[in-house]
Amino acid sequence: MKAARFYDRKDIRIEDIEPQELQPGTARVDVAWCGICGTDLHEYLDGPIFCPSHGNPHPISGEEPPVTMGHEFCGVISEVADDIDDLAVGDHVVVEPYIISEDVNTGPESKTYHLSENMNFIGLGGRGGGLAENVVVKRRWIHKISDKVSLDHAALIEPLTVGYHAVERAGVGEDSAGQVALIGGAGPIGLLTAAVLKAFGVTVVVSELSKARREKALETGVADHALNPEEVDVVKKVHELTDGVGADVAFECTSVPAVMTTLMDALRPRGVLQIVSIWGKPAEVDLNKIVLKELDVRGTIGYVNNHPQAIKLVEDGRVDLTPFVTARIGLDELIDEGFDTLIHRNETAVKILVSPSGKGLDK
Ligand SMILES: [Zn+2]
Repeated sequence: MKAARFYDRKDIRIEDIEPQELQPGTARVDVAWCGICGTDLHEYLDGPIFCPSHGNPHPISGEEPPVTMGHEFCGVISEVADDIDDLAVGDHVVVEPYIISEDVNTGPESKTYHLSENMNFIGLGGRGGGLAENVVVKRRWIHKISDKVSLDHAALIEPLTVGYHAVERAGVGEDSAGQVALIGGAGPIGLLTAAVLKAFGVTVVVSELSKARREKALETGVADHALNPEEVDVVKKVHELTDGVGADVAFECTSVPAVMTTLMDALRPRGVLQIVSIWGKPAEVDLNKIVLKELDVRGTIGYVNNHPQAIKLVEDGRVDLTPFVTARIGLDELIDEGFDTLIHRNETAVKILVSPSGKGLDK
């Protein structure tokens, strides 16, 4: 089968490889679509980061390069181990792509398995990936979805779940209608976080330099206001919108220190600042902005037992993922069309989906 494999920085190869063997407790997923993520680009440009390096196998997967890439994927079950009785060939599924040590509790009550030692991701740390025609996954990490959700949308459930977890961490949920949220940055995660907030009835203000991204935020209906921080005083505007009080919650999705300052200034006293982005280096922030307003500053990484709720938002039609799919390509075009577009022309591209078998492209 065809697979995209990470060998090293700037060295990802499309190769013919043997499919993984089915093991007890696993099922084979024929990948329908796999999204390209910012993390994949970082591995390509600056890696290995999550991917193991030569001579340093990942402590849980035991694998070193080459490893198959792709962690934002969905597909159809094509083979099920004998000891699994709640999955059938033909089921549509999304994968929660974790690699987590066997001794960690990953049960439905766990709120911390994603923070366990050496946590990594299928499609980065080993165990196959979604940028291959099929992948064998442990039952624990397979989530069934309704056939009514189209499979190209389902590939976006993984990044949507990142947004869902950030929103949950910020304390926003079904009883938050009427609150006002400010999002710094309207890249894919900023937009999908906004989509979850809108589903909960929150008023969403986005601050974003790129015109194309501001337009996307408005056109997809996930933002009520999209502000250009070079032209508009975002802090003033948020206070105008909230009778002088400030935003209830803010989401930092840029890893730019100046954005942190804007969000802290725009929040109401005791508001929540949720940091969603991963930072390449330490940031300088004025901590008095936190102290003097008693802000809550929280981190968020990945997701933990959030897939069922995120899937339900999509199944119930409360989140429409249609406008976020901006291109569909085959595996052979991964670098030239996929990575290159996202690296050099990323303003209009939100999610580029890859059909590893090419079957999705025929339709
Ligand atoms: Zn990702």
